[in-house]
Amino acid sequence: MNILITAPHACSIKSVSHVCDVLAHNCAQSLRNYLENLGHTVSAIVNPTTTRDKLDVNRVEGRDHPYRRAINQLLPLMDLLIDVHSFPPQESRFRGHDVVVFNMPSTFDDRFVRALAQYLHNYGMKTLLYNGSPENDTVASTLEQGKMAVLLEFNEERTFLGREVARALDEAWRATF
Ligand SMILES: [Zn+2]
Repeated sequence: MNILITAPHACSIKSVSHVCDVLAHNCAQSLRNYLENLGHTVSAIVNPTTTRDKLDVNRVEGRDHPYRRAINQLLPLMDLLIDVHSFPPQESRFRGHDVVVFNMPSTFDDRFVRALAQYLHNYGMKTLLYNGSPENDTVASTLEQGKMAVLLEFNEERTFLGREVARALDEAWRATF
C-alpha cells in the first residue's frame, strides 16, 4: 500500500514545555525503512523547524504551513497516513506505556486502529488505546477526506522497536481490509 508518514513536531529541542517530539524524526525514518522492507511504498513529511510554541502545525491554525500543504498534495495518492509523535516519560496521560494509539472520535470505522493496538500489544509493547480529540487536525482532516489515518505516540525513554511497529501496522491492515 501507499503510506504517508508525517511528523509535525520533529525537532530536537528538549524542554520542560515539550515544544518538540525529540524521538519523532528517528521514529519516522526507522518506520519508513521497515515498512519499505515489507514491500510498501512510503513517503515521509516531517517538520523539523517550526516548534510547537511558535505554531502547532498539527492544529487547524497550521493548515497553511508548507508542511501541511505538502501533506495535502500527496494525500490523494495514499491509502494510510501515520502521524508520528513522541512523549516524555513524565507525560501523565501516557505514563508507563511504550506506545499510545489514538482512536479519534470521528473515526467512522475504528477496526484498523483497534487491531493495531492489539498487534502492538502482541509484539510485547505496553500499548495504550487513547481517545484522541479532533484538534489533532492532520489525522482528523485526513479521516474527513475518507482516508485512513492513525496517530502514534512513542515513549522517548524506550527503545523504538521500528521493525515490530511496522509489522503490527502491516498485519493490522491486512486483518482489517
Ligand atoms: Zn507531537
